[in-house]
Amino acid sequence: MEEVGTGLLDRLDAMQRVAASAPGGPLLIVAGPGTGKTRTLTHRIAYLCAELGVFPERCLAITFTRRAAAELRERLESLLGDVAEDITVGTFHSVGLTILKENAKAAGLGAGWRIAEEPEQRQAREQAGEDDTAYRKLLRQQDLVDLDDLISVPVALLREDPALVEKYRRRWQWIFVDEYQDVDELQYELLRLLSPADGNLCAIGDPDQAIYSFRGADVRYFLRFNQDFVDARLVRLTRNYRSSAPILAAAVQAIAPSSLVRGRRLDPARLDPEAPLVGRYPARSVADEADFVVRTIDELVGGLSHRSLDSGRVDSRAVTAGALSFSDIAVLYRTDTQSGPILDALSRAGVPVQKRSHNRLRDRPGVQAIAHELRHAGGTDGSLPARIRLAAQVLAQRYAAPTLDGGQLTPEDIWSAADLLTPLGVRTGDDLPQFLQQLETGAEVDALDPRAEAVNLLTLHAAKGLEFPVVFLVGCEDGLLPLRWSGSTPTEEEIAEERRLFFVGLTRAQDRLYVSHSARRSRHGSDREQQPTPFLDVIDSGLFERLGEAAPARPKDRQLRLL
Ligand code: ATP
Ligand code: MG
Repeated sequence: MEEVGTGLLDRLDAMQRVAASAPGGPLLIVAGPGTGKTRTLTHRIAYLCAELGVFPERCLAITFTRRAAAELRERLESLLGDVAEDITVGTFHSVGLTILKENAKAAGLGAGWRIAEEPEQRQAREQAGEDDTAYRKLLRQQDLVDLDDLISVPVALLREDPALVEKYRRRWQWIFVDEYQDVDELQYELLRLLSPADGNLCAIGDPDQAIYSFRGADVRYFLRFNQDFVDARLVRLTRNYRSSAPILAAAVQAIAPSSLVRGRRLDPARLDPEAPLVGRYPARSVADEADFVVRTIDELVGGLSHRSLDSGRVDSRAVTAGALSFSDIAVLYRTDTQSGPILDALSRAGVPVQKRSHNRLRDRPGVQAIAHELRHAGGTDGSLPARIRLAAQVLAQRYAAPTLDGGQLTPEDIWSAADLLTPLGVRTGDDLPQFLQQLETGAEVDALDPRAEAVNLLTLHAAKGLEFPVVFLVGCEDGLLPLRWSGSTPTEEEIAEERRLFFVGLTRAQDRLYVSHSARRSRHGSDREQQPTPFLDVIDSGLFERLGEAAPARPKDRQLRLL
Protein backbone atom coordinates (compact mmCIF):
# COMPACT_ATOMS: atom_id res chain seq x y z
CA MET A 1 0.00 0.00 0.00
CA GLU A 2 1.34 3.40 -0.97
CA GLU A 3 1.68 6.12 1.59
CA VAL A 4 -1.49 8.13 1.99
CA GLY A 5 -1.74 11.71 3.17
CA THR A 6 -0.38 14.69 1.29
CA GLY A 7 1.84 12.29 -0.63
CA LEU A 8 -1.15 10.74 -2.33
CA LEU A 9 -1.27 13.33 -5.08
CA ASP A 10 2.50 13.70 -5.39
CA ARG A 11 2.56 11.48 -8.42
CA LEU A 12 0.27 13.81 -10.34
CA ASP A 13 1.17 16.97 -12.21
CA ALA A 14 -0.40 20.33 -11.32
CA MET A 15 -3.48 20.02 -13.55
CA GLN A 16 -4.04 16.39 -12.68
CA ARG A 17 -3.91 17.42 -9.02
CA VAL A 18 -6.52 20.12 -9.65
CA ALA A 19 -8.78 17.48 -11.19
CA ALA A 20 -8.11 14.87 -8.50
CA SER A 21 -8.73 17.24 -5.60
CA ALA A 22 -11.64 19.22 -7.09
CA PRO A 23 -14.56 19.67 -4.68
CA GLY A 24 -17.82 17.77 -5.09
CA GLY A 25 -20.40 18.58 -7.75
CA PRO A 26 -20.38 17.75 -11.46
CA LEU A 27 -16.87 17.53 -12.84
CA LEU A 28 -15.85 16.97 -16.45
CA ILE A 29 -12.28 16.01 -17.22
CA VAL A 30 -11.59 16.49 -20.92
CA ALA A 31 -8.23 15.29 -22.03
CA GLY A 32 -6.46 13.64 -24.90
CA PRO A 33 -4.90 10.20 -24.91
CA GLY A 34 -2.08 9.46 -22.52
CA THR A 35 -2.68 12.54 -20.38
CA GLY A 36 -3.34 10.46 -17.31
CA LYS A 37 -7.15 10.47 -17.22
CA THR A 38 -7.35 6.99 -15.82
CA ARG A 39 -4.48 7.71 -13.43
CA THR A 40 -6.20 10.90 -12.28
CA LEU A 41 -9.46 9.03 -11.77
CA THR A 42 -7.91 6.46 -9.44
CA HIS A 43 -6.11 9.16 -7.48
CA ARG A 44 -9.27 11.23 -7.16
CA ILE A 45 -11.18 8.33 -5.67
CA ALA A 46 -8.29 7.49 -3.34
CA TYR A 47 -7.93 11.12 -2.30
CA LEU A 48 -11.65 11.51 -1.56
CA CYS A 49 -11.66 8.37 0.57
CA ALA A 50 -8.34 8.81 2.35
CA GLU A 51 -8.33 12.57 2.76
CA LEU A 52 -11.89 13.84 2.72
CA GLY A 53 -13.54 11.04 4.62
CA VAL A 54 -15.76 9.87 1.77
CA PHE A 55 -16.94 6.33 2.51
CA PRO A 56 -15.66 3.88 -0.13
CA GLU A 57 -19.08 2.21 -0.23
CA ARG A 58 -20.55 5.53 -1.42
CA CYS A 59 -18.36 5.42 -4.53
CA LEU A 60 -19.32 3.93 -7.87
CA ALA A 61 -16.72 3.80 -10.65
CA ILE A 62 -17.89 2.80 -14.11
CA THR A 63 -15.51 1.74 -16.84
CA PHE A 64 -16.00 0.56 -20.38
CA THR A 65 -14.80 -3.02 -20.05
CA ARG A 66 -14.44 -5.50 -17.24
CA ARG A 67 -10.76 -5.65 -17.98
CA ALA A 68 -10.53 -1.91 -17.32
CA ALA A 69 -12.61 -2.38 -14.16
CA ALA A 70 -10.24 -5.07 -12.91
CA GLU A 71 -7.28 -2.80 -13.52
CA LEU A 72 -8.98 0.10 -11.79
CA ARG A 73 -9.69 -2.04 -8.77
CA GLU A 74 -6.10 -3.20 -8.65
CA ARG A 75 -4.81 0.37 -8.77
CA LEU A 76 -7.27 1.45 -6.07
CA GLU A 77 -6.12 -1.39 -3.86
CA SER A 78 -2.52 -0.31 -4.22
CA LEU A 79 -3.49 3.24 -3.24
CA LEU A 80 -6.01 2.52 -0.51
CA GLY A 81 -5.41 -1.03 0.65
CA ASP A 82 -8.30 -3.25 1.70
CA VAL A 83 -10.89 -0.50 1.99
CA ALA A 84 -10.86 -0.34 -1.83
CA GLU A 85 -12.96 -3.52 -1.73
CA ASP A 86 -15.95 -1.48 -0.63
CA ILE A 87 -15.89 0.66 -3.77
CA THR A 88 -18.28 -0.52 -6.47
CA VAL A 89 -16.30 -0.85 -9.69
CA GLY A 90 -17.86 -2.20 -12.84
CA THR A 91 -19.22 -1.69 -16.31
CA PHE A 92 -22.66 -0.27 -17.08
CA HIS A 93 -23.85 -3.84 -17.57
CA SER A 94 -22.58 -5.01 -14.21
CA VAL A 95 -24.10 -1.98 -12.44
CA GLY A 96 -27.41 -2.68 -14.20
CA LEU A 97 -27.18 -6.31 -13.15
CA THR A 98 -26.63 -5.32 -9.53
CA ILE A 99 -29.73 -3.13 -9.58
CA LEU A 100 -31.73 -5.80 -11.35
CA LYS A 101 -30.71 -8.47 -8.84
CA GLU A 102 -31.90 -6.26 -6.00
CA ASN A 103 -35.21 -5.53 -7.72
CA ALA A 104 -35.98 -8.64 -9.74
CA LYS A 105 -39.39 -9.09 -8.18
CA ALA A 106 -40.45 -5.52 -8.91
CA ALA A 107 -39.34 -6.12 -12.50
CA GLY A 108 -41.72 -9.08 -12.68
CA LEU A 109 -38.96 -11.69 -12.80
CA GLY A 110 -39.32 -15.06 -11.06
CA ALA A 111 -36.78 -16.34 -8.56
CA GLY A 112 -34.89 -18.42 -11.12
CA TRP A 113 -34.36 -15.60 -13.63
CA ARG A 114 -31.11 -15.36 -15.56
CA ILE A 115 -29.48 -13.92 -18.63
CA ALA A 116 -30.65 -15.71 -21.75
CA GLU A 117 -28.12 -17.75 -23.65
CA GLU A 118 -27.54 -17.01 -27.30
CA PRO A 119 -29.67 -19.88 -28.70
CA GLU A 120 -32.54 -18.88 -26.41
CA GLN A 121 -32.37 -15.33 -27.66
CA ARG A 122 -32.20 -16.45 -31.26
CA GLN A 123 -35.23 -18.64 -30.81
CA ALA A 124 -37.23 -15.81 -29.24
CA ARG A 125 -36.16 -13.48 -32.06
CA GLU A 126 -37.21 -15.94 -34.73
CA GLN A 127 -40.55 -16.47 -33.05
CA ALA A 128 -41.20 -12.77 -32.54
CA GLY A 129 -40.16 -11.71 -36.04
CA GLU A 130 -39.51 -7.97 -36.28
CA ASP A 131 -41.53 -7.15 -33.19
CA ASP A 132 -39.17 -6.14 -30.32
CA THR A 133 -41.90 -6.01 -27.76
CA ALA A 134 -43.12 -9.49 -28.60
CA TYR A 135 -39.48 -10.62 -28.36
CA ARG A 136 -39.08 -9.28 -24.85
CA LYS A 137 -42.37 -10.78 -23.80
CA LEU A 138 -41.20 -14.21 -24.92
CA LEU A 139 -38.02 -13.84 -22.90
CA ARG A 140 -39.93 -12.61 -19.87
CA GLN A 141 -42.29 -15.59 -19.96
CA GLN A 142 -39.23 -17.77 -19.41
CA ASP A 143 -37.79 -15.43 -16.75
CA LEU A 144 -34.97 -14.46 -19.09
CA VAL A 145 -33.35 -11.11 -19.78
CA ASP A 146 -30.90 -10.05 -22.46
CA LEU A 147 -28.00 -7.61 -22.33
CA ASP A 148 -30.07 -4.57 -23.25
CA ASP A 149 -32.48 -5.45 -20.44
CA LEU A 150 -29.64 -5.21 -17.93
CA ILE A 151 -29.79 -1.48 -18.42
CA SER A 152 -33.25 -0.78 -19.81
CA VAL A 153 -35.11 -2.64 -17.05
CA PRO A 154 -33.32 -0.79 -14.19
CA VAL A 155 -33.93 2.46 -16.06
CA ALA A 156 -37.64 1.65 -16.32
CA LEU A 157 -37.83 0.71 -12.63
CA LEU A 158 -36.06 3.86 -11.53
CA ARG A 159 -38.19 6.05 -13.75
CA GLU A 160 -41.33 4.78 -12.09
CA ASP A 161 -40.17 4.77 -8.51
CA PRO A 162 -38.76 7.95 -6.95
CA ALA A 163 -38.08 6.08 -3.70
CA LEU A 164 -35.85 3.66 -5.56
CA VAL A 165 -34.01 6.58 -7.15
CA GLU A 166 -33.45 8.02 -3.68
CA LYS A 167 -32.18 4.71 -2.39
CA TYR A 168 -29.48 4.42 -5.05
CA ARG A 169 -28.58 8.09 -4.89
CA ARG A 170 -27.97 7.64 -1.18
CA ARG A 171 -25.91 4.54 -1.78
CA TRP A 172 -23.71 5.94 -4.54
CA GLN A 173 -23.13 9.57 -3.74
CA TRP A 174 -19.94 9.74 -5.78
CA ILE A 175 -20.03 8.48 -9.34
CA PHE A 176 -17.07 8.30 -11.72
CA VAL A 177 -17.28 7.37 -15.38
CA ASP A 178 -14.21 6.75 -17.51
CA GLU A 179 -14.46 6.89 -21.34
CA TYR A 180 -17.59 9.04 -21.07
CA GLN A 181 -17.38 9.91 -24.79
CA ASP A 182 -18.72 6.43 -25.55
CA VAL A 183 -21.91 6.33 -23.46
CA ASP A 184 -25.10 5.46 -25.28
CA GLU A 185 -28.62 6.69 -24.68
CA LEU A 186 -29.65 4.07 -22.12
CA GLN A 187 -26.40 4.31 -20.18
CA TYR A 188 -26.81 8.06 -20.16
CA GLU A 189 -30.36 7.72 -18.84
CA LEU A 190 -29.18 5.40 -16.12
CA LEU A 191 -26.55 7.92 -15.08
CA ARG A 192 -29.07 10.74 -15.02
CA LEU A 193 -31.27 8.70 -12.73
CA LEU A 194 -28.40 7.69 -10.47
CA SER A 195 -26.96 11.16 -10.21
CA PRO A 196 -28.88 14.36 -9.45
CA ALA A 197 -28.13 17.29 -11.77
CA ASP A 198 -25.93 18.82 -9.08
CA GLY A 199 -24.52 15.48 -7.94
CA ASN A 200 -20.94 14.38 -7.51
CA LEU A 201 -20.63 12.99 -10.99
CA CYS A 202 -17.15 12.94 -12.42
CA ALA A 203 -17.08 12.22 -16.16
CA ILE A 204 -13.79 11.60 -17.86
CA GLY A 205 -13.04 11.21 -21.51
CA ASP A 206 -11.91 12.44 -24.87
CA PRO A 207 -14.43 13.26 -27.63
CA ASP A 208 -11.69 12.61 -30.20
CA GLN A 209 -11.62 8.99 -29.08
CA ALA A 210 -15.36 8.38 -29.57
CA ILE A 211 -15.35 5.14 -31.58
CA TYR A 212 -18.45 3.20 -30.59
CA SER A 213 -21.25 4.96 -32.47
CA PHE A 214 -21.91 1.69 -34.34
CA ARG A 215 -23.17 0.36 -31.01
CA GLY A 216 -25.28 3.41 -30.32
CA ALA A 217 -22.72 5.47 -28.40
CA ASP A 218 -23.22 9.20 -28.87
CA VAL A 219 -20.46 11.69 -28.23
CA ARG A 220 -23.07 14.45 -27.89
CA TYR A 221 -23.75 13.39 -24.30
CA PHE A 222 -20.18 14.30 -23.55
CA LEU A 223 -20.35 17.57 -25.42
CA ARG A 224 -23.44 18.72 -23.54
CA PHE A 225 -22.34 17.68 -20.07
CA ASN A 226 -22.32 21.24 -18.77
CA GLN A 227 -25.92 21.75 -19.91
CA ASP A 228 -27.13 18.57 -18.24
CA PHE A 229 -25.31 19.03 -14.97
CA VAL A 230 -25.48 22.20 -12.92
CA ASP A 231 -22.37 24.37 -12.52
CA ALA A 232 -20.15 21.68 -13.95
CA ARG A 233 -16.48 22.22 -13.38
CA LEU A 234 -14.24 21.60 -16.38
CA VAL A 235 -10.63 20.50 -16.14
CA ARG A 236 -8.42 19.95 -19.16
CA LEU A 237 -5.28 17.86 -19.14
CA THR A 238 -2.89 18.51 -21.99
CA ARG A 239 0.40 16.86 -21.11
CA ASN A 240 0.85 13.49 -22.73
CA TYR A 241 3.04 11.13 -20.71
CA ARG A 242 2.62 8.10 -22.89
CA SER A 243 4.11 8.64 -26.30
CA SER A 244 7.43 9.83 -27.63
CA ALA A 245 7.35 13.25 -29.31
CA PRO A 246 7.33 12.00 -32.93
CA ILE A 247 4.50 9.55 -32.24
CA LEU A 248 2.47 12.23 -30.52
CA ALA A 249 3.10 14.78 -33.28
CA ALA A 250 1.95 12.30 -35.92
CA ALA A 251 -1.20 11.50 -33.92
CA VAL A 252 -2.09 15.15 -33.34
CA GLN A 253 -1.76 15.89 -37.06
CA ALA A 254 -3.81 12.82 -37.91
CA ILE A 255 -6.83 13.87 -35.82
CA ALA A 256 -6.73 17.59 -36.71
CA PRO A 257 -9.22 17.43 -39.63
CA SER A 258 -11.90 15.83 -37.44
CA SER A 259 -11.13 17.06 -33.93
CA LEU A 260 -14.20 17.65 -31.78
CA VAL A 261 -12.23 19.50 -29.14
CA ARG A 262 -11.91 23.20 -29.71
CA GLY A 263 -8.34 24.36 -29.25
CA ARG A 264 -7.19 20.76 -28.73
CA ARG A 265 -3.72 20.70 -27.20
CA LEU A 266 -1.50 17.79 -26.52
CA ASP A 267 2.04 18.51 -25.40
CA PRO A 268 4.68 15.82 -25.11
CA ALA A 269 6.06 15.29 -21.62
CA ARG A 270 8.67 13.07 -23.22
CA LEU A 271 11.29 14.97 -25.16
CA ASP A 272 13.99 12.43 -25.91
CA PRO A 273 15.81 14.02 -28.89
CA GLU A 274 16.76 10.58 -30.18
CA ALA A 275 13.30 9.13 -30.17
CA PRO A 276 12.81 7.09 -33.35
CA LEU A 277 10.47 8.34 -36.05
CA VAL A 278 7.30 6.51 -36.96
CA GLY A 279 8.25 3.51 -39.07
CA ARG A 280 6.26 3.24 -42.30
CA TYR A 281 6.36 0.03 -44.26
CA PRO A 282 4.80 -0.23 -47.73
CA ALA A 283 4.25 -3.96 -48.14
CA ARG A 284 3.88 -5.71 -51.50
CA SER A 285 1.34 -8.14 -50.18
CA VAL A 286 -0.45 -9.18 -47.05
CA ALA A 287 2.10 -11.96 -46.56
CA ASP A 288 4.92 -9.45 -46.93
CA GLU A 289 3.27 -7.23 -44.31
CA ALA A 290 3.00 -10.17 -41.91
CA ASP A 291 6.68 -11.02 -42.54
CA PHE A 292 7.60 -7.45 -41.76
CA VAL A 293 5.84 -7.67 -38.40
CA VAL A 294 7.55 -10.95 -37.52
CA ARG A 295 10.97 -9.73 -38.66
CA THR A 296 10.70 -6.54 -36.65
CA ILE A 297 9.48 -8.33 -33.53
CA ASP A 298 12.42 -10.67 -33.94
CA GLU A 299 14.81 -7.71 -33.87
CA LEU A 300 13.06 -6.00 -30.97
CA VAL A 301 12.86 -9.00 -28.71
CA GLY A 302 16.34 -10.13 -29.48
CA GLY A 303 16.22 -13.16 -31.71
CA LEU A 304 13.32 -15.55 -31.86
CA SER A 305 15.76 -18.42 -32.26
CA HIS A 306 16.39 -18.16 -28.51
CA ARG A 307 12.98 -19.57 -27.89
CA SER A 308 12.01 -23.17 -27.82
CA LEU A 309 9.84 -23.21 -30.90
CA ASP A 310 7.88 -26.36 -30.17
CA SER A 311 6.26 -25.19 -26.95
CA GLY A 312 5.93 -21.57 -28.01
CA ARG A 313 7.14 -20.73 -24.55
CA VAL A 314 9.76 -18.16 -23.95
CA ASP A 315 13.13 -18.88 -22.53
CA SER A 316 13.30 -16.26 -19.79
CA ARG A 317 16.99 -15.65 -20.50
CA ALA A 318 16.11 -14.68 -24.05
CA VAL A 319 13.64 -12.09 -22.86
CA THR A 320 15.96 -10.47 -20.39
CA ALA A 321 18.71 -10.49 -23.01
CA GLY A 322 16.52 -8.61 -25.49
CA ALA A 323 15.33 -5.08 -24.85
CA LEU A 324 11.68 -6.08 -24.84
CA SER A 325 9.37 -8.93 -24.08
CA PHE A 326 6.47 -10.10 -26.21
CA SER A 327 3.91 -8.57 -23.86
CA ASP A 328 5.29 -5.12 -24.72
CA ILE A 329 4.13 -5.48 -28.29
CA ALA A 330 0.71 -5.00 -29.86
CA VAL A 331 -0.44 -5.50 -33.43
CA LEU A 332 -3.59 -3.49 -34.13
CA TYR A 333 -5.98 -3.77 -37.06
CA ARG A 334 -9.36 -2.50 -38.16
CA THR A 335 -11.18 -5.80 -38.68
CA ASP A 336 -10.82 -9.12 -36.94
CA THR A 337 -10.27 -10.99 -40.22
CA GLN A 338 -7.00 -9.13 -40.77
CA SER A 339 -5.49 -10.98 -37.84
CA GLY A 340 -5.36 -14.30 -39.77
CA PRO A 341 -2.15 -13.84 -41.82
CA ILE A 342 -0.37 -12.11 -38.91
CA LEU A 343 -1.39 -14.82 -36.48
CA ASP A 344 -0.17 -17.53 -38.87
CA ALA A 345 3.17 -15.83 -39.49
CA LEU A 346 3.77 -15.26 -35.77
CA SER A 347 2.77 -18.81 -34.91
CA ARG A 348 5.12 -20.20 -37.58
CA ALA A 349 7.95 -18.21 -35.99
CA GLY A 350 7.05 -19.64 -32.58
CA VAL A 351 5.86 -16.33 -31.15
CA PRO A 352 3.13 -16.73 -28.51
CA VAL A 353 0.14 -14.47 -29.13
CA GLN A 354 -3.08 -13.50 -27.43
CA LYS A 355 -5.75 -12.31 -29.82
CA ARG A 356 -8.69 -10.27 -28.59
CA SER A 357 -11.44 -8.39 -30.34
CA HIS A 358 -14.09 -6.07 -28.93
CA ASN A 359 -16.83 -8.57 -29.76
CA ARG A 360 -18.93 -10.27 -27.12
CA LEU A 361 -17.21 -13.20 -25.50
CA ARG A 362 -20.18 -15.46 -26.07
CA ASP A 363 -20.03 -14.86 -29.82
CA ARG A 364 -16.59 -16.46 -30.06
CA PRO A 365 -16.95 -20.04 -31.31
CA GLY A 366 -16.58 -22.53 -28.51
CA VAL A 367 -17.33 -20.21 -25.60
CA GLN A 368 -21.00 -21.19 -25.33
CA ALA A 369 -20.10 -24.86 -25.54
CA ILE A 370 -17.62 -24.54 -22.68
CA ALA A 371 -20.10 -22.54 -20.61
CA HIS A 372 -22.66 -25.31 -21.13
CA GLU A 373 -20.24 -28.03 -20.21
CA LEU A 374 -19.30 -26.17 -17.01
CA ARG A 375 -22.96 -25.75 -16.09
CA HIS A 376 -23.85 -29.33 -16.71
CA ALA A 377 -20.71 -31.15 -15.67
CA GLY A 378 -21.68 -30.82 -12.00
CA GLY A 379 -19.15 -31.16 -9.21
CA THR A 380 -16.92 -28.38 -8.06
CA ASP A 381 -13.60 -30.17 -7.94
CA GLY A 382 -10.54 -28.29 -9.01
CA SER A 383 -9.85 -24.68 -9.76
CA LEU A 384 -11.85 -22.90 -12.43
CA PRO A 385 -8.97 -22.87 -14.92
CA ALA A 386 -8.54 -26.63 -14.41
CA ARG A 387 -12.25 -27.18 -14.94
CA ILE A 388 -12.14 -25.10 -18.12
CA ARG A 389 -9.34 -27.31 -19.46
CA LEU A 390 -11.26 -30.43 -18.51
CA ALA A 391 -14.44 -29.17 -20.19
CA ALA A 392 -12.41 -28.34 -23.30
CA GLN A 393 -10.91 -31.79 -23.34
CA VAL A 394 -14.31 -33.45 -23.16
CA LEU A 395 -15.69 -31.18 -25.86
CA ALA A 396 -12.69 -31.45 -28.16
CA GLN A 397 -12.98 -35.23 -28.07
CA ARG A 398 -16.67 -35.02 -28.73
CA TYR A 399 -16.22 -32.66 -31.67
CA ALA A 400 -13.36 -34.67 -33.14
CA ALA A 401 -15.41 -37.88 -33.16
CA PRO A 402 -17.23 -38.86 -36.38
CA THR A 403 -20.34 -39.12 -34.44
CA LEU A 404 -20.37 -35.38 -34.79
CA ASP A 405 -23.95 -34.14 -34.89
CA GLY A 406 -23.50 -31.55 -37.61
CA GLY A 407 -22.22 -28.84 -35.29
CA GLN A 408 -19.74 -26.48 -36.90
CA LEU A 409 -17.28 -26.35 -34.03
CA THR A 410 -13.80 -27.82 -34.41
CA PRO A 411 -11.50 -28.99 -31.60
CA GLU A 412 -9.33 -25.95 -32.47
CA ASP A 413 -12.27 -23.64 -31.75
CA ILE A 414 -12.70 -25.31 -28.39
CA TRP A 415 -9.05 -25.05 -27.39
CA SER A 416 -8.79 -21.50 -28.58
CA ALA A 417 -11.90 -20.60 -26.54
CA ALA A 418 -10.43 -22.39 -23.52
CA ASP A 419 -7.21 -20.36 -23.85
CA LEU A 420 -9.29 -17.21 -24.05
CA LEU A 421 -11.32 -18.05 -20.95
CA THR A 422 -8.51 -19.22 -18.70
CA PRO A 423 -7.31 -15.74 -17.63
CA LEU A 424 -10.92 -14.83 -16.80
CA GLY A 425 -11.20 -17.97 -14.72
CA VAL A 426 -8.08 -16.95 -12.83
CA ARG A 427 -9.50 -13.49 -12.20
CA THR A 428 -12.84 -14.65 -10.83
CA GLY A 429 -11.24 -17.06 -8.40
CA ASP A 430 -13.41 -20.16 -8.27
CA ASP A 431 -16.73 -18.37 -8.42
CA LEU A 432 -18.50 -20.26 -11.20
CA PRO A 433 -21.73 -18.20 -11.29
CA GLN A 434 -19.75 -15.00 -11.54
CA PHE A 435 -17.57 -16.49 -14.24
CA LEU A 436 -20.60 -17.61 -16.27
CA GLN A 437 -22.12 -14.20 -15.87
CA GLN A 438 -18.95 -12.65 -17.30
CA LEU A 439 -19.21 -14.93 -20.29
CA GLU A 440 -22.70 -13.61 -20.94
CA THR A 441 -21.96 -9.92 -20.52
CA GLY A 442 -18.27 -9.49 -21.25
CA ALA A 443 -16.17 -8.71 -24.30
CA GLU A 444 -13.23 -10.75 -25.59
CA VAL A 445 -10.85 -8.01 -24.55
CA ASP A 446 -11.93 -8.51 -20.92
CA ALA A 447 -9.92 -11.72 -21.07
CA LEU A 448 -6.74 -9.90 -22.03
CA ASP A 449 -3.98 -10.83 -19.67
CA PRO A 450 -1.54 -7.90 -19.59
CA ARG A 451 1.14 -10.06 -17.98
CA ALA A 452 0.94 -12.91 -20.44
CA GLU A 453 4.23 -13.45 -22.22
CA ALA A 454 2.59 -13.03 -25.62
CA VAL A 455 2.27 -10.52 -28.43
CA ASN A 456 -1.13 -8.81 -28.29
CA LEU A 457 -3.28 -8.99 -31.42
CA LEU A 458 -6.13 -6.54 -31.03
CA THR A 459 -8.81 -4.81 -33.03
CA LEU A 460 -8.54 -1.04 -32.77
CA HIS A 461 -11.76 -0.95 -30.78
CA ALA A 462 -10.41 -3.45 -28.28
CA ALA A 463 -7.20 -1.43 -27.84
CA LYS A 464 -8.99 1.60 -26.40
CA GLY A 465 -7.48 2.78 -23.11
CA LEU A 466 -4.45 0.45 -23.41
CA GLU A 467 -0.80 1.30 -24.03
CA PHE A 468 2.21 -0.66 -25.29
CA PRO A 469 5.89 0.18 -25.77
CA VAL A 470 5.66 -1.06 -29.36
CA VAL A 471 2.64 -0.82 -31.64
CA PHE A 472 2.17 -2.05 -35.20
CA LEU A 473 -0.84 -0.55 -36.94
CA VAL A 474 -1.30 -2.78 -39.97
CA GLY A 475 -3.59 -2.44 -42.98
CA CYS A 476 -3.47 1.37 -43.14
CA GLU A 477 -5.25 1.27 -46.48
CA ASP A 478 -8.07 3.15 -48.09
CA GLY A 479 -11.22 1.03 -47.80
CA LEU A 480 -9.94 -0.72 -44.70
CA LEU A 481 -9.22 2.31 -42.52
CA PRO A 482 -11.49 4.12 -43.27
CA LEU A 483 -13.47 0.93 -43.64
CA ARG A 484 -15.78 0.74 -46.63
CA TRP A 485 -18.31 -2.04 -46.80
CA SER A 486 -18.87 -3.49 -50.20
CA GLY A 487 -21.06 -1.24 -52.36
CA SER A 488 -21.49 1.58 -49.86
CA THR A 489 -19.96 5.01 -49.53
CA PRO A 490 -19.26 6.12 -45.97
CA THR A 491 -20.78 9.38 -44.78
CA GLU A 492 -18.62 12.22 -43.58
CA GLU A 493 -19.49 11.34 -40.00
CA GLU A 494 -18.46 7.75 -40.54
CA ILE A 495 -15.14 8.88 -41.99
CA ALA A 496 -14.62 11.15 -38.99
CA GLU A 497 -15.19 8.19 -36.68
CA GLU A 498 -12.73 6.08 -38.66
CA ARG A 499 -10.20 8.86 -38.33
CA ARG A 500 -10.75 8.86 -34.56
CA LEU A 501 -10.17 5.12 -34.61
CA PHE A 502 -6.90 5.71 -36.45
CA PHE A 503 -6.04 8.30 -33.77
CA VAL A 504 -6.81 5.80 -31.00
CA GLY A 505 -4.49 3.31 -32.71
CA LEU A 506 -1.56 5.69 -33.11
CA THR A 507 -1.83 6.91 -29.53
CA ARG A 508 -1.53 3.42 -27.99
CA ALA A 509 2.21 3.50 -28.73
CA GLN A 510 4.77 4.58 -26.16
CA ASP A 511 8.20 4.20 -27.75
CA ARG A 512 7.91 2.68 -31.17
CA LEU A 513 5.14 2.92 -33.73
CA TYR A 514 5.01 1.18 -37.09
CA VAL A 515 2.33 1.77 -39.70
CA SER A 516 2.09 -0.52 -42.71
CA HIS A 517 -0.06 -0.93 -45.79
CA SER A 518 -0.17 -3.58 -48.46
CA ALA A 519 -0.29 -2.94 -52.23
CA ARG A 520 -2.70 -5.85 -52.68
CA ARG A 521 -5.34 -7.44 -50.51
CA SER A 522 -8.23 -9.79 -50.92
CA ARG A 523 -11.37 -7.76 -50.21
CA HIS A 524 -15.01 -8.66 -50.79
CA GLY A 525 -13.95 -11.92 -52.36
CA SER A 526 -11.41 -10.68 -54.89
CA ASP A 527 -7.75 -9.74 -54.92
CA ARG A 528 -7.47 -5.97 -55.24
CA GLU A 529 -4.95 -3.24 -55.58
CA GLN A 530 -4.90 -1.11 -52.44
CA GLN A 531 -3.90 2.50 -51.81
CA PRO A 532 -2.47 3.77 -48.52
CA THR A 533 -5.11 5.45 -46.37
CA PRO A 534 -5.55 9.19 -47.00
CA PHE A 535 -5.32 9.51 -43.19
CA LEU A 536 -1.55 9.16 -43.59
CA ASP A 537 -1.38 12.07 -46.04
CA VAL A 538 -2.07 14.71 -43.38
CA ILE A 539 0.96 13.61 -41.38
CA ASP A 540 4.20 15.46 -42.08
CA SER A 541 6.42 13.08 -44.08
CA GLY A 542 9.37 14.18 -41.92
CA LEU A 543 7.83 12.23 -39.03
CA PHE A 544 8.15 8.96 -40.91
CA GLU A 545 11.08 6.72 -41.42
CA ARG A 546 10.35 4.77 -44.57
CA LEU A 547 11.24 1.15 -44.09
CA GLY A 548 12.20 -0.67 -47.25
CA GLU A 549 12.24 -4.40 -47.79
CA ALA A 550 15.97 -4.51 -48.35
CA ALA A 551 16.97 -2.11 -45.59
CA PRO A 552 17.03 -3.37 -42.03
CA ALA A 553 13.76 -2.69 -40.27
CA ARG A 554 15.53 -0.61 -37.65
CA PRO A 555 18.91 1.02 -38.17
CA LYS A 556 21.38 0.27 -35.41
CA ASP A 557 21.78 3.87 -34.26
CA ARG A 558 18.09 4.07 -33.52
CA GLN A 559 17.98 1.59 -30.73
CA LEU A 560 14.71 1.41 -28.95
CA ARG A 561 14.88 3.19 -25.65
CA LEU A 562 12.69 2.16 -22.83
CA LEU A 563 11.92 4.71 -20.19
P1 ATP B 1 -6.36 7.13 -22.83
O1 ATP B 1 -7.09 8.32 -23.38
O2 ATP B 1 -5.61 6.42 -23.89
O3 ATP B 1 -7.26 6.25 -22.03
P2 ATP B 1 -5.36 8.27 -20.36
O4 ATP B 1 -5.54 9.76 -20.43
O5 ATP B 1 -6.35 7.52 -19.56
O6 ATP B 1 -5.21 7.68 -21.84
P3 ATP B 1 -3.40 7.01 -18.64
O7 ATP B 1 -3.53 5.63 -19.18
O8 ATP B 1 -4.01 7.33 -17.33
O9 ATP B 1 -3.90 8.03 -19.78
O10 ATP B 1 -1.87 7.44 -18.57
C1 ATP B 1 -1.00 7.26 -19.69
C2 ATP B 1 0.39 6.93 -19.21
O11 ATP B 1 1.01 8.10 -18.66
C3 ATP B 1 0.42 5.88 -18.13
O12 ATP B 1 1.54 5.05 -18.32
C4 ATP B 1 0.55 6.70 -16.87
O13 ATP B 1 1.17 5.97 -15.83
C5 ATP B 1 1.45 7.85 -17.35
N1 ATP B 1 1.26 9.08 -16.54
C6 ATP B 1 0.11 9.74 -16.37
N2 ATP B 1 0.29 10.81 -15.57
C7 ATP B 1 1.60 10.84 -15.24
C8 ATP B 1 2.42 11.69 -14.44
N3 ATP B 1 1.93 12.74 -13.81
N4 ATP B 1 3.72 11.39 -14.33
C9 ATP B 1 4.25 10.31 -14.97
N5 ATP B 1 3.54 9.47 -15.73
C10 ATP B 1 2.23 9.72 -15.87
MG1 MG C 1 -7.69 5.97 -20.06
